[in-house]
Amino acid sequence: MTLQMEPVSYTRPHVSGPLPGPKSAELLSRQEKRESNARAYPRHLPIAIADAAGSFVRDLDGNVFIDFLAGAGVLSLGHNHPELVEIARRQLGTLAHGLDFPTPVKDAFIEAQLSMLPLGMRERMKMHFCGPTGANAVDAAIKLCKTATGRSEIISFQGGFHGSSAAAMALTGLVEQKRPVANGMPGVHFFPYSYCSRCPVNLSPETCAINCIGYLENSLHDGNGGIPLPAAVIVEMVQGEGGVIPARLEFVQRLRQLTRQLEIPLIVDEVQTGCGRTGTWFAFEQYGIEPDVIVASKALSGIGTPVALIMYDASLDTWAPAAHTGTFRGNQLAFATGAEAVHIIQRDRVLDNVRERGEQVANLLAPLESLPWVREIRGRGLMWGIELQDPSTGMPAGDLALSVQEQVLRLGLILETGGRNGCVVRMLPPLNVTAGVVETACRILVNAIQALMPRTQEAG
Ligand code: PMP
Repeated sequence: MTLQMEPVSYTRPHVSGPLPGPKSAELLSRQEKRESNARAYPRHLPIAIADAAGSFVRDLDGNVFIDFLAGAGVLSLGHNHPELVEIARRQLGTLAHGLDFPTPVKDAFIEAQLSMLPLGMRERMKMHFCGPTGANAVDAAIKLCKTATGRSEIISFQGGFHGSSAAAMALTGLVEQKRPVANGMPGVHFFPYSYCSRCPVNLSPETCAINCIGYLENSLHDGNGGIPLPAAVIVEMVQGEGGVIPARLEFVQRLRQLTRQLEIPLIVDEVQTGCGRTGTWFAFEQYGIEPDVIVASKALSGIGTPVALIMYDASLDTWAPAAHTGTFRGNQLAFATGAEAVHIIQRDRVLDNVRERGEQVANLLAPLESLPWVREIRGRGLMWGIELQDPSTGMPAGDLALSVQEQVLRLGLILETGGRNGCVVRMLPPLNVTAGVVETACRILVNAIQALMPRTQEAG
């Protein structure tokens, strides 16, 4: 299929005709025939993408959408940021792939990443580059901690998501994905996360004394608790795929205390929350803790050139030479754009924008709070979720979330769903999104949810 389309000015969404349009439909059907049944996003977002710029994408039929999926949080500076495109273009002509040899751009990238850490961590953290996806870095973090401690067990949290490799999936809450794949990584123990809207231990936030973390404390201190001292605890500060659930402050602080006391390395998975997404460079900064291992990937390069890494306390570096290899650990394009992305984020005060736009989102979504189908609106920075429920039962309203996703797509807004039964409508805009685009997107979303309410209530 050849594509000849006039460039459009991406300033507002524009959708005409049914979705998918005819050209998208053709590619979607070719995809269905030739690609795996495991394909995910195009099932609920039925478009074939032609091109993109900033916070917008255009499909093959000329429809323009606000993209608040942003490559699942990868595109921190939006699609095709011109300065990053230029840097990548130049780098491509110099050196594209470098295994794990040192190179000037890699050195600049490492320097830029370390400069974003809290002061006290910069000197003591080492870095390891992994295969290019978040799951690769999660695997590396687990191997590092097992090697350093000589222990075998891992603690993970219900509702969490850590990736689709065999080991990362074993650490993930999603039972549906795990069920068909027998014999995942052994030794993983799941504990309740501080998901206060649906408290895993049936208490209310006002009186609970954070019993979810109390349960973990008791279990690990109990000689009859069944779990030998673990090699690591892995946790997200804000569960992303789990439905945008920020951990409570005390939950995280007590988890840090417990893991320090028992000398268990604490791995913070910042694959989704990292690189400014929540308004600080890493989300753990908002909890007043310092992890032993940081896992990062998605937005590290700013423009989608793949890269993943772990940063960890030097005392854990007991790896033998070549203990964790991988061919694609030297993506020079990602290093070049990633170093530049840090520069742009600082120069353009992008983290201020994340916090300001985050407040704007909160204000614009506030009218939804009173709707009985809306259980909770949660967010940090530019990571937002609206949890929908059936008001008569309190059960997660995944079907309604899907209808909202479908309806806003028709109005020119790409959103994702997540959480229990997919009942959370999620927003992950580029971090440099403008106030105007946020305003347009939130109006589309609020209007769509309000318009779907009476119909759904009648249906229910
Ligand atoms: N950890 C978290 C917190 C994630 O959100 C994701 C991806 N959504 C991953 C790990 C896995 O990353 P990848 O898909 O790049 O393997």
